[in-house]
Amino acid sequence: MNDGHLINHLFDENLANYAFKNADTKGRMHPFVADPLRTPYQRDRSRIIHSSAFRRLKGKTQVVPPESGDHARNRLTHTLEVTSIARDLARLLRLNEDFAECLALSHDLGHPPFGHAGEKTLNELLKPYGKTFEHNEQSRRVVMFFSRPYLDHTGLNLSHEILEGLKKHKKTLPYMEAELVDVADEIAYLSADLEDGLRGNFFMLSQLLELPLIQKALENDKNKDNVPRPQLVRAVIGLCLRELYTHAQLNLHERKIITLSDFQSQKERVVVFSDAFNKDFLELKRFLYKHYYKTPKVEAPNQKGQQILADLFAYFMENPQKLPKLRFDEKTSLERQVADYLAGMTNRYAEEVWERAGKG
Ligand code: MG
Repeated sequence: MNDGHLINHLFDENLANYAFKNADTKGRMHPFVADPLRTPYQRDRSRIIHSSAFRRLKGKTQVVPPESGDHARNRLTHTLEVTSIARDLARLLRLNEDFAECLALSHDLGHPPFGHAGEKTLNELLKPYGKTFEHNEQSRRVVMFFSRPYLDHTGLNLSHEILEGLKKHKKTLPYMEAELVDVADEIAYLSADLEDGLRGNFFMLSQLLELPLIQKALENDKNKDNVPRPQLVRAVIGLCLRELYTHAQLNLHERKIITLSDFQSQKERVVVFSDAFNKDFLELKRFLYKHYYKTPKVEAPNQKGQQILADLFAYFMENPQKLPKLRFDEKTSLERQVADYLAGMTNRYAEEVWERAGKG
């Protein structure tokens, strides 16, 4: 057996039939030598964690700016929480845990500074050029082109399946691990934002206790009227994990999904909540939109960020010689180069460049 293949088969033995097998990887874009000691996704995990794009996540807004306090989530801590949830679920469902971990770790690598507002602004700035900006697609661009720790090629040269799994916002996804990471993302941010929102006095625990999902999560908690914030997060994540696991198992059973190709022929997602629980989940989401995400206190710094991005976009379109030599290939349009450069910035760095350009 070839080097690297033995270890793939060793780990694949423990996986469910519908999991993506290490031995089935289609490989990487650039030539590489298999590692006899690690599966392809164990290697990919290291490549992602060691990339500068990953480290920059700590300076990017999740909901509130990283510089506004030491305890609110930033995009890096959010990513680590998504990964933790995704791994637990992957192991429970006997999916490929290393693969799920890579998808979770890389899911927000393309996220611009200033949160969702930053993403919206870049998209609007590209519109007149007939182009769009979307953070999932940008995550693919980051790992394919912008991180460059190797001399002989651009990008992290990740396994083909990770690039495929990063394609999101579709009705169905090619791997169950990708579906799982999508839900893990939602569970992670909604539960964490309960804690951050309570700490920031955006809403009160008594308001949350009126929501069906919170009532269910704290059903057996004697101290629910006084529950510590981390306990609330634990209870919500625990409930969501149980609900998701139970409903995914039911879907697998009812739809007779045994193999990966059974999974891939599905017209509806498999790793999803039941309709009933999804209703409670959406109600919680609506609550957070109203009382947290869409409040002036959260939106103000993001609006300033939108102005920074718009000014910088105009500045670099007029002064392309000021762009760092990112070694784009010549086919990349100027507007895309500018968007790529801005998307990679942390909040702090964007503001610094903005001030240096005489815009602040
Ligand atoms: Mg996310």
